[in-house]
Amino acid sequence: MSPLLLNLIQSLRCLPGIGPKSAQRMAFHILQKDRLGARRLIDALESALEKIGYCQECRMLTEETICEYCSNLRRDPAVVCVVEAPDDVIAIEASQQFKGQYFILMGHLSPLDRMGPEEIGMPLLEKRFAQGVIREVIIATNPTVEGEATVHYIADMARSHNIHATRIAHGVPMGGELKYVDAGTLAQALTGRRHCES
Ligand SMILES: [Zn+2]
Repeated sequence: MSPLLLNLIQSLRCLPGIGPKSAQRMAFHILQKDRLGARRLIDALESALEKIGYCQECRMLTEETICEYCSNLRRDPAVVCVVEAPDDVIAIEASQQFKGQYFILMGHLSPLDRMGPEEIGMPLLEKRFAQGVIREVIIATNPTVEGEATVHYIADMARSHNIHATRIAHGVPMGGELKYVDAGTLAQALTGRRHCES
């Protein structure tokens, strides 16, 4: 096989869920049937990589310094929902049950993967807690062991700033991921949120 073709197939495998077979199929599809689409993909990748960074307040992906959620004056800055990933924000928005602001961890506490408090943005979240605006933090991490450890860490931090810590409740299955939960279930989970126990 041509070295360039091999390289293309290998590069496509950086995408999640793409194994060697799928990567090969994608490479052949691009070259045989959709070179124009591939050009558009190159442009989109290039400008996204160049321009999209992290919001300085909440770590959401954005091309601005402050994202659209943080700068939206109709959202309540006193309630902050903490999630693991940017696509969790999209899932919660679809539930239409939340009108506060967000904080995105970009992961969860996981010592084995070298994910400590610094890596998941705890200094930035603590800075926001210290500003005295936040009354409630809703912790909406995934229901996994690492997600649980993260809940306790954030709840402790909230307590030391006299902030009410709650966590989403019903319907999110253990071991599941927030972004795959349907909007109705997620809306219920938000309404039925409960205190974080110490
Ligand atoms: Zn933001």
